[in-house]
Amino acid sequence: MSKKNRLMVEKLKKTRLQAAPPDHSSADPEDVECDFCTGRKHKAVQSCLVCLASYCEAHLQPHYQSQAFQKHKLVKASRRLQEQICSQHDKLLEAYCRTDQQSICMLCMLDNHRGHDTVSLAAEKSEKQKKLEWTRREYQIKIRRG
Ligand SMILES: [Zn+2]
Ligand SMILES: [Zn+2]
Ligand SMILES: [Zn+2]
Ligand SMILES: [Zn+2]
Repeated sequence: MSKKNRLMVEKLKKTRLQAAPPDHSSADPEDVECDFCTGRKHKAVQSCLVCLASYCEAHLQPHYQSQAFQKHKLVKASRRLQEQICSQHDKLLEAYCRTDQQSICMLCMLDNHRGHDTVSLAAEKSEKQKKLEWTRREYQIKIRRG
């Protein structure tokens, strides 16, 4: 290889290195959006296991302030809220115990929650969805009133 050719190769290598895109993904896969934000969604900071919804800082306030939310269980915001696994049985949490206000798996239902008021999570969710709509509406009214 002549000296000139070698220089060309070196130059090519350098440009190729510089052209390579930076290798860090911008989106955090754990980022969750607030279920209550309309329009531009804020990043959720906490998820509620009772509401099965995620909240940004502002929309989380009623959970801190209102008696109605006192028993609600807040966890770090998670997209996988609805597909949680029972830590005891390693099963999908498919049911909801109204007596204890918690999601449970089928084995829990037969075991610890025998005789409790339990429903399938799907049924509970659609009911929650209705309640969520209500809460949303109340929010809107409050915001409009200022
Ligand atoms: Zn929000
Ligand atoms: Zn809640
Ligand atoms: Zn279980
Ligand atoms: Zn129970």
